[in-house]
Amino acid sequence: MIQKPKGTKDILPECSYKWAYVEEKAKEILENYGFKEIRVPVFEQTELFERGVGDTTDVVQKEMYTFLDKGERSITLRPEGTAGVVRAYIENGMASLPSPTKMWYMMPMYRYENVQKGRYREFRQIGAEIIGTASYKADVELIVMADQIIKKFNIPGVILNINSIGCPTCRKKYQEALKEFIGKNIEQYCGTCKTRFEKNPMRILDCKEKKCKELNQGAPIILDYLCEECSAHFENVKRALEKLKIDYVIDSGIVRGLDYYTKTVFEFVSETEGYTVLAGGRYDGLVEELGGQKTEAIGFAMGEDRLIDIFEKYNQTQEVAIRKPDLYIASIGEVAEEAVSTLALELRKNELYIETDICERSMKASLKYADKMNAKFLMVMGEDEVNAGKAKIKNMTTGEETQTELEVRKIIENIK
Ligand code: ATP
Ligand code: MG
Repeated sequence: MIQKPKGTKDILPECSYKWAYVEEKAKEILENYGFKEIRVPVFEQTELFERGVGDTTDVVQKEMYTFLDKGERSITLRPEGTAGVVRAYIENGMASLPSPTKMWYMMPMYRYENVQKGRYREFRQIGAEIIGTASYKADVELIVMADQIIKKFNIPGVILNINSIGCPTCRKKYQEALKEFIGKNIEQYCGTCKTRFEKNPMRILDCKEKKCKELNQGAPIILDYLCEECSAHFENVKRALEKLKIDYVIDSGIVRGLDYYTKTVFEFVSETEGYTVLAGGRYDGLVEELGGQKTEAIGFAMGEDRLIDIFEKYNQTQEVAIRKPDLYIASIGEVAEEAVSTLALELRKNELYIETDICERSMKASLKYADKMNAKFLMVMGEDEVNAGKAKIKNMTTGEETQTELEVRKIIENIK
């Protein structure tokens, strides 16, 4: 038997309704903040991610699904959403739209990861981007919205960690200090970190190797090196969050796994599960890096697979339930069968969930099936019922039976 590739999953009907619920609720919140949906290609030119995400990141160095297509072009399955969204923003001249442009997406991403709990090779993200504003107010709006989304799903023990990683100005001095610190032990770091030392020492702080993590203890923190502007920006963000009673913790260790981040970065971490559910930050240099005008922006991506894993564990609410048939209509004989088909169609047009037999089942088997499907009501129609224009409807929970005329309106009255 052929099996699915490692790190992928089948989202089966017994579970997919939970995904639909999460997506619907998240979408409602996103749209209440004025975000509009964008869909971009699953694959892009490899260069987009090398330049956008950064060629010294784990994502680009280790995790991309890259291949040559039949025309010898280097193609990569998107490992994240922002680079593609920004490319689309530039390519479609969206800078001429009223600023800022707010967009959301729900898309699968592809990373060649070490597969483990909460870490897959195909996973889905719900993301949001605000492009075209440098104001700290955008940071606040985005973080508050992310907080609202997380809270919507009643996930316990999620903590908001924030940090500022400054801008190229403050980073210059910081990187010198960092290099001095790391340089003392550079021989003991992993091979990848060694290659990052000259080009991008901050990346070393994001290394997942145990040894490197230990060596990083006590490293200088960027918050001590922020320039005046970055410092004021961060203070404004913190003050606004406090005013809105959004709890946060400053985590000077957040550097984020993608190179394009500047200033505010944040992560919503599930303490119980030990992983990040939603993460994001400012990326003031990315639009320019990808060939557009200098345009400040900020965004986040939520790991939908991780959110659902936690959601499943803690939420068994009625609101999120697999849909049960409103009515199962069984028929005896050909005349009734035809009448049932017509009636079922009319009822379905009225948005009822109707089941009838499409397996040539016996009456007994039909009733058993209706029961298995947890149908809320049951109706049996024979020629007599068709001629009389009336039939009995049985409430499958209470066992109560009532007589109804075979008219859509009457049937709906009986079911509701
Ligand atoms: P990590 O440090 O955990 O690898 P990251 O910095 O690579 O995270 P981002 O690129 O910021 O993660 O992705 C945003 C969110 O997407 C993460 O917080 C997580 O919830 C989710 N995510 C990232 N990679 C995976 C994956 N391989 N499987 C499932 N979800 C993922
Ligand atoms: Mg990662």
